[in-house]
Amino acid sequence: MSVKDNIEKINSLKNAAAQRAGRDGKDVLLCAVTKTHPASEINEAIDAGITDIGENKVQEILDKYDDVKPVRWHMIGHLQTNKVKYIIDKVSLIHSVDSYKLAVEIDRRAAQHGIVMDILIQVNSALEESKFGITAEETDSLIAEILENCPHVKIRGLMCIAPFSENAGDVAGYFRIVKEIYDKYAGAPRTGLDFKYLSMGMSNDFETAIAEGSNLIRIGTAIFGARNYNKNV
Ligand SMILES: *Cc1c(COP(=O)(O)O)cnc(C)c1O
Repeated sequence: MSVKDNIEKINSLKNAAAQRAGRDGKDVLLCAVTKTHPASEINEAIDAGITDIGENKVQEILDKYDDVKPVRWHMIGHLQTNKVKYIIDKVSLIHSVDSYKLAVEIDRRAAQHGIVMDILIQVNSALEESKFGITAEETDSLIAEILENCPHVKIRGLMCIAPFSENAGDVAGYFRIVKEIYDKYAGAPRTGLDFKYLSMGMSNDFETAIAEGSNLIRIGTAIFGARNYNKNV
């Protein structure tokens, strides 16, 4: 199957999952995760209608940026504070804010560029040691700290990576924890906070995530095929 065929298939599964949850598929944003894939393949996806792409490494964004057609770039991977400066003017949304220190640096760099940066807070609701993100319990205090001190940052929602499971239904509870926090803030915008995105769901579990309220899914493998990490991009 071509990238275009895969995108069509994901879109129809996404729409069906949204409908089952009583929502409109149009309200669930498909972010194509393009890590390890070259600009030529990314452009194929853009030609097939993809408007948003996600990368998890700063270096890959920089390497491909000039060769990719106009699109919204999402930073979805762990972001080191000292690398914020390289992507601050290139990405539309940073999904992976998991510390006050990182938010402060994003705020500082955004101020230098005269912009307000949209971010999500990454919540590690399964408490997996191998994953980044803060705990559900830490979320309110991190949000409060950012609201108080980071005027060039706007918190647009939450992001969660569920543990891998053969049975995607097993992870529903981890998504539900994050949705509960999301609901507390959604619909009550104020300066520095305007929740719009609940970023949950990957190739393996996006239908479960949509059932649990996700409105932004991050899909790599199901669009581009298995990743080859040894390949030079
Ligand atoms: C790689 C990645 C994805 C996509 O994973 P697939 O299983 O290939 O769909 C989604 N989110 C994050 C944060 C990733 O790093």
